[in-house]
Amino acid sequence: MPPILFVILLLLVSGPSPVGAQDAPLVYIDPGHGGDQPGVVEDGLEEEDLVLRWGFLVAEAFAAAGYETRMSRTGDVGPGFQERVDEARALGADLFLSLHINRDDDPELWGTEIFLAEDQPGSVAAAEAVAEALEGIGARVTLIGQPWEVLASPDLPTLMVELGHLTHPVERRLMVSRDFWEEAAAALVVGAGEVLGRP
Ligand SMILES: [Zn+2]
Repeated sequence: MPPILFVILLLLVSGPSPVGAQDAPLVYIDPGHGGDQPGVVEDGLEEEDLVLRWGFLVAEAFAAAGYETRMSRTGDVGPGFQERVDEARALGADLFLSLHINRDDDPELWGTEIFLAEDQPGSVAAAEAVAEALEGIGARVTLIGQPWEVLASPDLPTLMVELGHLTHPVERRLMVSRDFWEEAAAALVVGAGEVLGRP
């Protein structure tokens, strides 16, 4: 790859947005697990790998829409969850978006789950807007409220998106589909934009 392309890719993935960087809301994108935490493992597929690949596309989609983005990890490393939250707060993130893919013992169970901090108003509003956007691309979304202590911190709107189930035969195909990842990334941008504002 020519060096200039590599630099552009790096900027897209992890750097400040070239558009309105000063005022743009900062979205902290957290591909879950990594390092010695593979997350869900099904038939040779590992959640840590899938959510990282999806995470790059989510970061690209937010950056293309003019948001600032940071990722909690860009390789196979697994910082602790509190470390990720602390970094997001130190950066002054406006939204903490944790990305996951699920499994269940019941192979007929499917759908997207969004965990939100139920006593954190920004988290609730963001979850509702993101759910609506994901429903727009055919997802079946369940919102699950959690005390903020479980998810992040009282001052940081936080969503944990479990995109779907690797154990469901149909949904599994979407969980490894770059096209679907891009559609879901675009929906996250639309939904988050409802509460973050457009840069
Ligand atoms: Zn996970």
